[in-house]
Amino acid sequence: MQVPVLRRESACANVLGMSYSGSCLCGALRYEFEGEPRVVVNCHCSACRKATGSTVATWLLVPLAQFRWLSGQEQLREFASSDHARRAFCQSCGSTMGNLTTRRPSLMHLAAGTLDRAPAFQVAFHGYVGSKAPWHEITDALPQFDAEPAPPRR
Ligand SMILES: [Zn+2]
Ligand SMILES: [Zn+2]
Repeated sequence: MQVPVLRRESACANVLGMSYSGSCLCGALRYEFEGEPRVVVNCHCSACRKATGSTVATWLLVPLAQFRWLSGQEQLREFASSDHARRAFCQSCGSTMGNLTTRRPSLMHLAAGTLDRAPAFQVAFHGYVGSKAPWHEITDALPQFDAEPAPPRR
């Protein structure tokens, strides 16, 4: 089914759950994606911890074909945090926006905290629990993986 072209923050789109938008802390970088994320995951690896400054990083895996920047791309910088991952952030305010990995090249890993209106996405599992922050206790019943589980089906 063809998703209608959605511009700006259409209230209609939000009600239909067809489009989501987000931005960095300073507001320069804005993005939008259509459709639902492929999967939403909590990553407990040390690189995500450093990059986000958080105990755990929540990522929305969104097909690049459904994702686009709306503004501020000149503020976008990338840092190669490993041989397979590039982390995108705003050079003005430092917000971590997302993550691209050659392991899943068709998916943007969007930082959930950058969503403007946080819908009730359901986290699917905890990844890299083997390197989670020692002060953090996982208290929900979601599946846990020491590292990465099998990549989501296409
Ligand atoms: Zn910014
Ligand atoms: Zn991670």
